[in-house]
Amino acid sequence: MAFEKQTFWEDISTANTIGIAGHIRPDGDCVGSTLGLAAYIRDNYGKEPEVFLEEVPVAFSFIEGAERVVTGYPSREPFDLFIALDCGDDGRLGKAMNYVKSAKKTYCIDHHATSNGFLENNLVLPDSAATAQIIYTLCEDSKIRKGAAEALYLGIVHDTGVFKHSCTTRETMEVAGALLDHGVSSSRIIDGTFYEKTYLQNQILGRCLMESVLCLDGKVIFSSIDRKIINLYGLGPSDTEGIIDQLRVTKGVEVAILIRELTPRSWRVSMRSCEIVDVSKICSMFGGGGHVRAAGATMSGSRRDVINNLLAEIEKQLTAEE
Ligand code: AMP
Ligand code: MN
Ligand code: MN
Repeated sequence: MAFEKQTFWEDISTANTIGIAGHIRPDGDCVGSTLGLAAYIRDNYGKEPEVFLEEVPVAFSFIEGAERVVTGYPSREPFDLFIALDCGDDGRLGKAMNYVKSAKKTYCIDHHATSNGFLENNLVLPDSAATAQIIYTLCEDSKIRKGAAEALYLGIVHDTGVFKHSCTTRETMEVAGALLDHGVSSSRIIDGTFYEKTYLQNQILGRCLMESVLCLDGKVIFSSIDRKIINLYGLGPSDTEGIIDQLRVTKGVEVAILIRELTPRSWRVSMRSCEIVDVSKICSMFGGGGHVRAAGATMSGSRRDVINNLLAEIEKQLTAEE
């Protein structure tokens, strides 16, 4: 069904119970868009949506409402309204799909090119840099308070890599500017949640850079983190954020690949590209998805199988371009 802004807000104002969830392994946009929308509803509709996330990375715990996030997906009475943010298919929503199945009304608001319109009402805008940016455009600027503004700014900062990825548009900058007017401290969010790294995160970043390999005449850079390393350092999912971005800015590189072993022979794949390769197309082929310049998937096999499969697809796209 097509998304209608007015109906969306009417549905929010009439619902007694509202649930909001983002994708598994939440990132800044996932946390920022869910908590931003929840804060806006709390501030303007006098009701408290329940936000469900797999976890809230420690660096984001100061965002308003983070302490009330429900983890572990406990069973709940059916929601009048359930909103999925920053994810476009049931696999990405994970266990929150149970709330969707029983909810009376469902909405999906997302910006992934591979979003498949899996809920009753879907607003998918692949040209938006972040789901948080879409949420801002649905809200009335004068009704946004500082807590909601900080959350939405967090989402935009993270999905644009601090306004540097190609998804950053004039609208992105204008939305971010408007959010600053609501009292957001940009340095707290940018330094505190994006650039600041724990000693452990820096160590693992260094290790991944040191062990990285160049392939396809230096156009592809690849690095991996296996179970042995994960256990040795006690790495959590957010400890490897940002490594892929550092790999991508290697001179001459078009595609960066980072793989992380989840269970034996099952790998979480992150891909980034600079100008040519559509990595969302490649990740979709292996059951994942994402954006043209940033995408992910979960693949099985040995490290060598995974890299060989990915390189073959990258090579096809690079040769087609020549
Ligand atoms: P990541 O490498 O995990 O940071 O993911 C890069 C981008 O692709 C993010 O916008 C993710 O939300 C998206 N993404 C990652 N994995 C998947 C997947 N399996 N399906 C759809 N989108 C994904
Ligand atoms: Mn996300
Ligand atoms: Mn996003």
